[in-house]
Amino acid sequence: MRRRKFISAVVKTASAAACIQVFPPSLHSLVVQQSATPNVSPSSSPKPQLALTLDDPTLSLGSVLRWQEANGRILKAISAKNVRIALFVCGMRVDEADGARMLAAWDQAGHSICNHSYSHKYYGEQTSYSDFAVDFLKDERVIAPYHNRTAIFRYPFLKEGDTAEKRDRFRALLKERGYRVGHVTIDASDWYVSQRFVDRLGKQPNAPIAPYRDYLIAHLLDRATFYRQLALDVLGRDIRHTLLMHYNPLNAFVLPDVMNAFEAAGWQWIDASLAFEDPVFRSQPQTVPAGESLVWALAKETGRFGDRLRYPGEDDVYEKPKMDVLGL
Ligand SMILES: [Zn+2]
Repeated sequence: MRRRKFISAVVKTASAAACIQVFPPSLHSLVVQQSATPNVSPSSSPKPQLALTLDDPTLSLGSVLRWQEANGRILKAISAKNVRIALFVCGMRVDEADGARMLAAWDQAGHSICNHSYSHKYYGEQTSYSDFAVDFLKDERVIAPYHNRTAIFRYPFLKEGDTAEKRDRFRALLKERGYRVGHVTIDASDWYVSQRFVDRLGKQPNAPIAPYRDYLIAHLLDRATFYRQLALDVLGRDIRHTLLMHYNPLNAFVLPDVMNAFEAAGWQWIDASLAFEDPVFRSQPQTVPAGESLVWALAKETGRFGDRLRYPGEDDVYEKPKMDVLGL
């Protein structure tokens, strides 16, 4: 019960934040000053920054909504914040005429179109370096037509190789082709919350969306707080964060609420291209198996944060019992 109350408070605050934005600047400062605690001036504590990165745009969203509607909703939510995101395209999900139409809409809106491999292979024991490399190169053909294609690669499942040799060979290939890694700093399991929502709609078509939205928002804010603190402890400074979310039905409906909730919690949305300029994204953690959130890997590499690092960093197994208890 306490959790639900907390979540609904978050959402109410988010709505309030949305209202504040329409005030003229002078009134806006007044509101901020009144709500700030007496000892903390807003200017003395710069806001933590994050960029949205969205993975796996797809034409197949099940029976919940058509891709055209999802695409329109997601693009509108992002443009309301006046930021440009990084879209990580997995070729097999969009490799037809409609997929090209979808990507063109993102390209025209100025978002970065990035490589997420063609077949979304898990770069572990079951995938050789050669197979993974071929699959990465195959995705280049899918994103090649777009003006805003960007040489940034995101590993599927954030898995960067199960041996040092495979890890380093692929890193060398990325370098050779002029790519950077599209690291996630704030990892999360939004995909699982959406999956549960879609499953529920399959059984109960009129099921309310609000409890799933509230769970998702609380989950994302919780993970953001965790990875921000971990980055502060490992690196001694606030980095520019990249939040991982997916192109899925739940996010298509609630992305405006998610983005408002982050602002209400004190975060500032920034362009993904700006976030990726942070020097932290040039790090190459020497961990094996390689991957997870970049912050997770950097923490792991120090050998000092074992008590705070679970493996994998995020997964459905952590959310399932909590969602079961809530009846979601
Ligand atoms: Zn993916």
